[in-house]
Order: sequence, then C-alpha cells, then structure tokens
Amino acid sequence: MIGRPMHSYPVYYEQPYLTSLEATVVSITDKGVILDRTICYPEGGGQSGDQGLVGGCTLVDTTKDDEHTIYHHVENPTFKEGEKVLIELDWEHRYHFMQMHTAQHVASGLLFSHFGIQTVSVHQGQSILTIETDAQQIAPETCHALEDLVNEQVLASHAVHYEVHTQASAKQLDLRRSIKVEGDGVRLVVVEDVDTVACGGLHVARTGEIELFHYAGQEKIRSHVRLIFTVGKTAKQMIRRTEAVAAELGTLFSSPLEQLVAVATQAVEQASLDKRELQKAEERIAALELDKRVQKAAVKDGVPVLVWDVEADLSLKDIGLAVLSYPDLALCAAKQDGQRVLWLIALQGRASELLDFSQAKQALLATINAKGGGKSPLYQGSGTGDREALFSAFRERLA
Ligand SMILES: [Zn+2]
Repeated sequence: MIGRPMHSYPVYYEQPYLTSLEATVVSITDKGVILDRTICYPEGGGQSGDQGLVGGCTLVDTTKDDEHTIYHHVENPTFKEGEKVLIELDWEHRYHFMQMHTAQHVASGLLFSHFGIQTVSVHQGQSILTIETDAQQIAPETCHALEDLVNEQVLASHAVHYEVHTQASAKQLDLRRSIKVEGDGVRLVVVEDVDTVACGGLHVARTGEIELFHYAGQEKIRSHVRLIFTVGKTAKQMIRRTEAVAAELGTLFSSPLEQLVAVATQAVEQASLDKRELQKAEERIAALELDKRVQKAAVKDGVPVLVWDVEADLSLKDIGLAVLSYPDLALCAAKQDGQRVLWLIALQGRASELLDFSQAKQALLATINAKGGGKSPLYQGSGTGDREALFSAFRERLA
C-alpha cells in the first residue's frame, strides 16, 4: 500500500484523467466514507467536490478535513468496511471543472500580465466561472480583449505541467500570487508561456482542452469588479440560449435583431403611456359614478350623506380622489376584496362638523373588525364581515 491508506490516498494528482478506479473501503463514518485510495477530488480552492458512484451508490459530494482525510458522501451505502468498491466519476461534471479551473489560471495570468489587474478570489459554479479582481472598474472593451487573449492561448494549446519547488526556489520565481501552503514540496502549476502559480487543484493537460472562453458580464462586489465567464460546452450552450431568446423576442416584436432594442423600448414606452391613459379613464369613471350617487344622496344640514357598496371594477383610491372635488360630502364606501372588506370614509368640508371621525372611529370600525386610519378628509383600511353593518352605523350617526 502506498501513501497514507487511512486518508483516502489521492490518485487524482498522478492520474487526473482516470474516470474509474477500484478501491477498498477503510471505514464508514458520520463524516463520510474513507477509501484506501481515491480519484474523487474534494471541494476546495473554488473547485467543487466530485460526484458519481461508489460501489454503485450515489456519491453526492467529496470533502476533506484539516488532516487531509478525504470523505466520500455516499447516499445509503450498501457496502461494508473491507469490501472492494468501484469508484465511477461523473466525468462531465469533473472535466468541466478542470476546464474552468485551467481557464481561470490563464485568464488571471493574462489579466495581470496585460492589464496589471490582480485576482482577489475565484469561484466555479455549475455553469459559470467568476473572478473577483482588485479593480474598481473594467471597461467592456478590456473584458473582450481578455476574452480574445485567452482564446488565442486556447488555440495555441500550451502544455500544462507541474514543478515541485522549495519555498525558497518558488519565491525566487516572483509569482503573481503568494504561496499559501507551508513547507517545501510546493506544487507549481505551469501553463507554458502564460502563467505559473502554486496550486493544489486539477487542470487539463493542454489549454486547447478549454475549447472556448466566453466573457458573460460583470458585477460589483465589495467595490471590486467581479468578472463572469463561461467555458467549453457550457459557453456554447449559453451563447445558443441567448441567441434563441433574441430570436424569440425578434418574432414577438416583429423586428430584425439590429432594431430589436429600439422596437422593444418603444413598445415598453407605449405600454406605459397606455397604462397612464387607462388610469385617467378609471379615475374619470369613478368621478362620474360618485357624482351620480351624490345627486340622489340624502342631505343633512346642506351636506350630502352617502353610503356606497362599491363595484369590483372601481377602486377606492380613485373614489377618494374624486371626493376632493366636492366642497362638502360625507361618504362611507366599502368593497369586497377576496376575504377582506376594504373601506373608505370621507368627511369633506363641513361633513367633519357633523361627524368627528376620531371619536366615532372605534365604534364604526368594530362593525367589520377593521383596522386603518388616515387624515382628514380621507380615512381607509380593511376588515372582515358584513359591509351593511358598517353602512348602518355610519347612517345612524348622520341621520
Ligand atoms: Zn489550479
């Protein structure tokens, strides 16, 4: 047995392209399954843990602890300690991470050598690679120049190889990134002619395997620019999806691509105008409906007094607005809105002399378990119960 069998000896550094391997189960613990050796890369350094099958059971994640013990998170393992099991990687998942991770080396190296921009942190999601930079802004032209530069290195298909250094000899190389591991035996990853850093991750053998590097946008984080990229097959899928969306929008707006933004902008502006026109019309209808009722309303001391069981298609807000054009008006309006009763009481002009809302509030609102408030002349809120109970109470006080 080689290495440290208790710790799931990592075979992935020697053979990063191995997709299956037979191993022996050392122990099954609460933290996961320990094997004598493994090809499963544990989560770390912005690279997610491997997935796949162990002994035919689903491997959902791979992690490691501070002692470098690798744990395989296997769902309902059917194997026992001492048994031999076959590890089968979800190779598509793993290879995409190797592509993205290697692309990140190339991109961070070129960002530094061509634009003097440092990488602060990196993250590889299921579909996107993000690089947080130390820059406060990066022009889109720079991002596209970087995209072109990386794709040139992809086309050149440089070899990626490893060198083991002492701390002293590694420091002499004046690398763009400080070395985070302690002790000698520092593993340097060299993308030939492009970049050298100390790294414990997994990489493709040549930059050509990155296939395609695509700039997909940027966002601000902690006042830094974070660049977003897609890589390989995922980049192609994303470009195709974006194209399909643009085509669908083109059909929807009956517009060629070149005019699509202008046509869509105009449509959005028109919709906004139409909405304002509709709002005006609704306010006008509410005012006419109110007027019709005010003409027939009872009058007390020269003030029209009115209760109104409001139709579903009229809004209390519009009615409240319409009230303000009367010199004197006492109105109690309510409408059903699902389970709730919405209410509006208006005491415009001399109506406030006939009814002091602050005194009558509690008794009036209790009729429909309502809450709410407002300031003279409009009060509103919501409750539950029989609207007629509120109307009767209002009428009685103004009889
Ligand atoms: Zn790396």
